[in-house]
Amino acid sequence: MTTPVIAIDGTAASGKGTLARRLARQLGYAYLDTGLLYRATALMTLTLFPEQNDISEEMALKAVNAITAETMENPTLRDEETTQRASKVAAIPAVRTALIEQQRKFAKTPPDGADGAILDGRDIGTVICPDADHKIYVDADVKVRAERRVKELLERGDEAIHACVLQDMRERDARDSSRSVAPLVAADDAFIMDTTRMDADVAFATALEFISKRNESKA
Ligand code: C5P
Repeated sequence: MTTPVIAIDGTAASGKGTLARRLARQLGYAYLDTGLLYRATALMTLTLFPEQNDISEEMALKAVNAITAETMENPTLRDEETTQRASKVAAIPAVRTALIEQQRKFAKTPPDGADGAILDGRDIGTVICPDADHKIYVDADVKVRAERRVKELLERGDEAIHACVLQDMRERDARDSSRSVAPLVAADDAFIMDTTRMDADVAFATALEFISKRNESKA
């Protein structure tokens, strides 16, 4: 029997991370936030090549190879500079190729003997796990997503100006959606969730119902 896999894709601050974490806890599945891999690559480019704005493929691959377990724990992974850089390095095809294997391995053999795997990102249902058992695509109005991000930053004690966050988010959405390789797009067979007017509890209940119903119909 193959391991059940749930693919969750969507835009920034759409609520997909919170949803994926809660589903993983509920179902006893292992969870991989694939955005962290691109954030870690970005952080390493900032560390190795601090003066460089244009990151070449060669530099980006050096950064991928320099990622350590400590990089993955670094609190600056969530900083705005790292966030913007992440969507730039994520558009480099060689970076995506270098990170594929690790993601597929997680899906196939989730750690700690978990019963299944949940991966969230931008291309999980389309590229990384096209045969996933369930695919969910999460989006919300960009202004609402920017508000959520501002709240998150303020709660962390960071400064945040709504207009700047909104502008950065629009730029990142545009980059993620327009890149030539693995652009942000809903898989044809994904369940689409618009969380503009949903809180985290409603989003969780909606996704869980979708998964349960599909499991019943497949049984
Ligand atoms: O999900 P998160 O916002 O942490 O992702 C940061 C950036 O990493 C995204 O803006 C996107 O450019 C990139 N990413 C990606 N593919 C994924 C996950 C993240 O391109 N599967």
